[in-house]
Amino acid sequence: MSGTHIGKSMSLARVACVLALGWPCGSAFGLEIRDALSPRNSERAIRRQTRYIVLHTTEGPDKGSINKIRERGEAHYVVDSAGVVHRTVDRRRIAFHSGRSMWNNKTDMDLYAIGIEVVGYHNRDINEAQYRALRELLSQLQRLYRIPDQRVLSHSMVAYGAPNRWHRRPHRGRKRCGMQFARPSVRKKLGLNRRPGYDPDVRAGRLVEADPYLARMLYGPEPESVATASAGEAGNVIAPGRSAWDIARDKYNSADTLYIFPDGKRQRGNEIRRWRSMPSGTRVVPGETQRDNEEERLPTLGVDGNTASEIAGNAYNKPTTFYVFPNGRLRHGGEMNESDFKKMPTGTRVLIGYVASGAVTEKRSAFDISGPRWNHPSTYYLWPDGALKRGDEVKEGAIPVGARLFYRR
Ligand SMILES: [Zn+2]
Repeated sequence: MSGTHIGKSMSLARVACVLALGWPCGSAFGLEIRDALSPRNSERAIRRQTRYIVLHTTEGPDKGSINKIRERGEAHYVVDSAGVVHRTVDRRRIAFHSGRSMWNNKTDMDLYAIGIEVVGYHNRDINEAQYRALRELLSQLQRLYRIPDQRVLSHSMVAYGAPNRWHRRPHRGRKRCGMQFARPSVRKKLGLNRRPGYDPDVRAGRLVEADPYLARMLYGPEPESVATASAGEAGNVIAPGRSAWDIARDKYNSADTLYIFPDGKRQRGNEIRRWRSMPSGTRVVPGETQRDNEEERLPTLGVDGNTASEIAGNAYNKPTTFYVFPNGRLRHGGEMNESDFKKMPTGTRVLIGYVASGAVTEKRSAFDISGPRWNHPSTYYLWPDGALKRGDEVKEGAIPVGARLFYRR
């Protein structure tokens, strides 16, 4: 920082540190910020509003976590285990960290929030160096954007799930990421005096509560210890009332999730077809690292379920559920009857909770249609030849005329 700031108040100087690119300025105030900008940074749209901060835990160690987050542009900052802050996406741009998310009826929180990843685990306390760094970083960002304490949220508060075979309606409880940042004692150490008192979307009936344990952790009284905090996760074994979803959440059908059956046979989540007949006693081993912010692949008929309603729950016949047949044909749930659903071919991919807003034309770009969502990983393109592409895989100049665009409501 240049000497021109000398003489201004300390608080102004601290704000300037976040603005500055280099870390020497930050380190002068006990906050070391290193530039580790993502190669995706420059292609991200500028965020129009900044009303929230969403806190995450990486669920993995320093090196792998930072590399992945940087490579994919999945957060604005990463706080490593030594308390060093890595700046991975320019705070003014959109980072992809919240996935399917909603808070107080706003969806896609990436459009409204700064994302901070903290190296660690949702059910463990962070260390003192991380407390110091995160506290300072929050204080600077909150001041800069005028974000009150109760709008500093955790990913677990804002993530929600689309309807599926286990939860027939959109539901809270898709993730426990950053759960400990709701604890009053943890917030106090971070300089946060207020927290959200309840889940506004569950209270308003927009979402149902799929994980009562998580709801207690986020909004209930402080549990006695961190050990108590992890008690709700004991036993990664399928049992009556404890499904693959309860254990692995959205990763239930991922290749990263390993299932060990009572007879010793092993299968990966992406190899399993018969979710209904998973035997009690099957052990579920979630992957080493939780690809937290990555959108899962689209659910597919014959893979994730054998009927439309098994895949999309109560949303199967809604106009916001889209079916892309293997031949590229497109239909939505609202225009199909029961016999259409029965005839739907294996391999049909399903988009749940989407808006279809027509095709890209010479005069109407993807950005014109969907704004900053155009390259979000939750956005999909149906190419004229029937290929489906994710928003973060497409290049702006290479979207063909006639490509249809789907973005999340
Ligand atoms: Zn997260």
